[in-house]
Amino acid sequence: MATFEQLGLEPAILQALQDVGYDAPSPIQEQAIPPLLQGLDVIGQAQTGSGKTAAFGLPMLQYVDPDADDVQGLVLTPTRELCIQVTQALRAYGTRKGVDVVAVFGGAPIRSQQAQLRAGGQVVVGTVGRVKDLISRHSLILNACRFVVLDEADEMLDLGFLEDVERILALTPASRQTALFSATMPPEIRRLADQYLYNPVTVRVKAATLTVDTVEQFALEVAARDKVTALIKVLEDEHPDQAIVFVRTKVRCDQLFRTLRDRGMNVRALHGDMSQGARDGVMIAFKGGRVPLLVATDVAARGLDISGISHVINFDVPTSPDVYVHRIGRTGRVGRSGRAITLHEPRQAREVQAIEHHAGVRLSPWVKGARVAPTGVNAPPRRHSKPRVSANTDGWGGPFSKLILSGGRAAGLEPSDIIHAITSTAELDGESVRNVRVLERFAFAEVPARDAPRVVERAAGTEVRGHVLRLELARV
Ligand code: AMP
Repeated sequence: MATFEQLGLEPAILQALQDVGYDAPSPIQEQAIPPLLQGLDVIGQAQTGSGKTAAFGLPMLQYVDPDADDVQGLVLTPTRELCIQVTQALRAYGTRKGVDVVAVFGGAPIRSQQAQLRAGGQVVVGTVGRVKDLISRHSLILNACRFVVLDEADEMLDLGFLEDVERILALTPASRQTALFSATMPPEIRRLADQYLYNPVTVRVKAATLTVDTVEQFALEVAARDKVTALIKVLEDEHPDQAIVFVRTKVRCDQLFRTLRDRGMNVRALHGDMSQGARDGVMIAFKGGRVPLLVATDVAARGLDISGISHVINFDVPTSPDVYVHRIGRTGRVGRSGRAITLHEPRQAREVQAIEHHAGVRLSPWVKGARVAPTGVNAPPRRHSKPRVSANTDGWGGPFSKLILSGGRAAGLEPSDIIHAITSTAELDGESVRNVRVLERFAFAEVPARDAPRVVERAAGTEVRGHVLRLELARV
């Protein structure tokens, strides 16, 4: 397994990675960073939570000249949320180097974004519609843009943005380097890649299928600051015989270990900064059953084969469905049943969904004493079929609510506008909006019933193509 340094990243970026606490590259980073640094075009098949932002962002930032004011890198995103998330990540990775990252997205005043662009900004992260708009107003000039990323290209397709994406690509230099990231590769995205990428290298993190059939799996949503309290409650309620608690980084491993130890728990830590001798000591104590609780990073726990583990607790959401599967594969061995509980912050709901989609599992909400049939009994057949399924058949099996929206063809609205307005304001993914029909003065759309009140509250009053959207639940 490579280190970030071995991948060829420069000191200012390595330093920033230390600041944010990443110890080692995630699988997609390990595969995508070297070809991107060589100047090759890349197709990356990876989903949210895999670390894909750094996979394309770090090479892009390495290429940027912070002393030049031109826009040198452009990241196109399908939604406002993703735009903001990517911007925050790139700012953190680029701060040591002094790279300015500007976010441009719809639903916010265009003037302040124009001003930010005028002030410089070597990297622009933007939603498709707003980028197009700023180009047509000559506020965004892409003549010197040598690195373009299409992030979550399949989402762009679902939201009807592909034509606009092509128009934008056509305005960037032909000599640019292009990276296309997508969780799935429908034919339209393949065609886009064939047309706009030059001899691309394809990298993918395989969508793992779950081989462990005997694990009850749960998720628990909790605010970042309440995570430790939640973990302690889970441990108290679950009474594990033996549990591994997974965290993302060495620093977090040490912190959590100390917190638990200071509360009097019999716990050990296992991470890559420990000497081999110390690690062996911990392994032996844990395997021998003398220690009931282990806090570990993924790297350190690789290959750990312990049959007695009753519980795997993901204190941090795994960086990919593969990592999830590896982690929970530590429990439920040899005919025993195990339990896996994943803590996640509200903003990580999409990461959890991505794991459910791509690992083919379903996480039930955790409450004290909760029981579900292990995956082997109730898992849907899609575990062995294509990883991505459409919301209509499998993704969200619950009821849908119909919405009536003011404004239709007469106001210049298209289905993609409506989908975009709903997804960007109410934090829904494109797949959750279905049966969009645009009539002359009205439009209809369906969203999951549980999300409908939020959609009505948030999307109402937003401006779409100069039209103020009003919407209400249809009475059926
Ligand atoms: P992304 O898939 O890019 O949205 O990243 C998902 C999450 O993983 C984000 O919270 C990142 O901060 C985190 N992350 C990305 N790369 C790493 C890494 N190499 N080590 C630890 N965490 C990471």
